[in-house]
Amino acid sequence: MTESPISRIKILPKNLINQIAAGEVIVRPASVAKELIENSIDAGAAQITVEVSDDVRTMTITDDGCGMTPEEAPLSLQRHATSKISTMEDIINVRTRGFRGEALASIAAVSRLTLTTRTPDSLSATRLEIEGGEILKTFAIGAPVGTSLLVRDIFFNTPARLKFMRSPSTELKRLLQVVTQQAMSHPEIGLILLSKNKKLLELPVQQSLEDRLRQILGSCVEGMLLPLHSGNLPVTIHGFVAKPEAGRKDRTAQFFFVNRRPISNRLLTVTFEKAYQGLLMTGRYPVGAIFVFVEPEDVDVNVHPTKEEVRFRDERMVGGIVHRVVSEALRKASLIPYTRLQEMPEAPVSPSGGKGQDAGGIFGSPTAALREGFRKKPFSPAQQTNLGFYESWGKGRIQSPSITSEIAVGSPRIPREIPEEEAPASGDKTAADFRESINQAEPIGQIAGMYIVALCGDALLLVDQHAAHERILYERISSRKTNLAIQPLLVPITFEVDATQVQEMEILRSRLQEFGFEVEHFGGQSFVIHSLPSDLSDVDAPALIRDLLDTLELRPEAGTATEWREEMARRLACHSAIKAGQNLSREEMIQLLRDLKKTALAFTCPHGRPTMILLTRGQLDRQFKRAT
Ligand code: ADP
Ligand code: MG
Repeated sequence: MTESPISRIKILPKNLINQIAAGEVIVRPASVAKELIENSIDAGAAQITVEVSDDVRTMTITDDGCGMTPEEAPLSLQRHATSKISTMEDIINVRTRGFRGEALASIAAVSRLTLTTRTPDSLSATRLEIEGGEILKTFAIGAPVGTSLLVRDIFFNTPARLKFMRSPSTELKRLLQVVTQQAMSHPEIGLILLSKNKKLLELPVQQSLEDRLRQILGSCVEGMLLPLHSGNLPVTIHGFVAKPEAGRKDRTAQFFFVNRRPISNRLLTVTFEKAYQGLLMTGRYPVGAIFVFVEPEDVDVNVHPTKEEVRFRDERMVGGIVHRVVSEALRKASLIPYTRLQEMPEAPVSPSGGKGQDAGGIFGSPTAALREGFRKKPFSPAQQTNLGFYESWGKGRIQSPSITSEIAVGSPRIPREIPEEEAPASGDKTAADFRESINQAEPIGQIAGMYIVALCGDALLLVDQHAAHERILYERISSRKTNLAIQPLLVPITFEVDATQVQEMEILRSRLQEFGFEVEHFGGQSFVIHSLPSDLSDVDAPALIRDLLDTLELRPEAGTATEWREEMARRLACHSAIKAGQNLSREEMIQLLRDLKKTALAFTCPHGRPTMILLTRGQLDRQFKRAT
């Protein structure tokens, strides 16, 4: 027998146990902030202040919540010490953020901690000084009602963890992400975040959700937020999603909450993004904050140590509802892209005194100067917990946003903000009016063989002929059922593929068949096309097939049937649509506009680019400095 690396069994010392446990809960400084803010929320705080320094290894979190008595304070640092649950039943019905009683013990095990806390009916506060989990000192001290935790030298005694810390700016970014998630979940709680004495966030108390989102996400969502409402039990959805043109290059502005707990859930992300399919350019991600409310027993929050992931009892149902609610909001929204005219040299100052362009929001521009002043908080009795708010949430708590102004620009490449003087005035057309009047649009010509110019009432309409035709074909193809008309080719088309693609061609062949393409393997690398769908008979089929082979993931198991159909419809539409540079007759232009009007999502092509741009009379008046 070789010598075993295992020595005699023994129970580990308490602090080592806590350090190991901390490994799961406290992964980085941002985790400390998350746990402590959640404790403050659970304590019914009206105002929370977070201050970080020392390369994010030191932070103070102060709240005006219910505080702890001198007896409770030392208990709170023990593992499995919690005031929030006492039975299994409670776990199932948990409505507080915490319940595992692990956070404070874990933080205490990996840092130097000073806990100061006072309940409303106590005359003085209790202070504990703790190092590596050991309480070094306990004494009474003067301090306001509430709790303040000073956490210093995070990971001072866990060198491995310390080594895994990223650069201070990365850690700060993660902390910011955590803090903003928490701040969104409770817009009624005031929150201040300071770093090196600079205010990074200053969110006033009692904000509406919309105002809080606007402040956090910045001016790029101004006029872009669409409210979500669905009051049907057992799943209630609230929140806001942004119009497609507010899309970002990553997912940092997507927020999901379940019973107000910030969470990440793959299914929710996927269904949310699906709702934007065909509205966003590839590589762009939609923006939104979606609050899902379910009965506590329908969701398991105890599947992940930090409770960031949750499991629903019925995942598919929740996903389906999210998809439907978001899709509806997008359909209802007017997505007409209005033009943004060039800034004139002496453009008048916006009469409102202007939301400045600096209000980028922390996800917009890094120099976010968040201007909204901090209103003095009304005194909140600590007992006024967040539960009451939770109950009243669905009942008109959320201020409904003004979606009266139809300000939107279609493409992410066009600057998003429209100064007020350029935004269509109330006399301008609404989305519905506009859709109606496309019928009467009088084409007057083409620019560069690419853009149709049309008069549309007293507005000027510019249509990208390729994008518009793509949208029309896409909807036609994707709504098509079976028995489609097929046109046999008198002269079959022969083409060859790469030797490596013969296998994939087999899969593609059956996919193409569904759309009316009959392709036969001729032998070797040669294939023959015998028929095409009769309404797409102009398509350059070999070019289409080569494109599909080059860019699609052609594995039998890749993608669901619906995903396939949608992707194929998009590609077919793109290949069959009128090209830029093609001259059109007046009749063809009229037909195109008519067909476009009938589409469900007329204003963008299946890749999310705008199909048309409208220049209204009001905009012209303002541009020519005529009083209206
Ligand atoms: P949990 O939140 O899961 O209960 P924690 O370790 O985070 O576990 O906190 C332990 C206990 O300490 C809480 O249950 C609560 O009673 C008390 N506590 C922690 N933070 C605060 C706070 N900011 N205000 C009042 N009580 C607090
Ligand atoms: Mg906690």
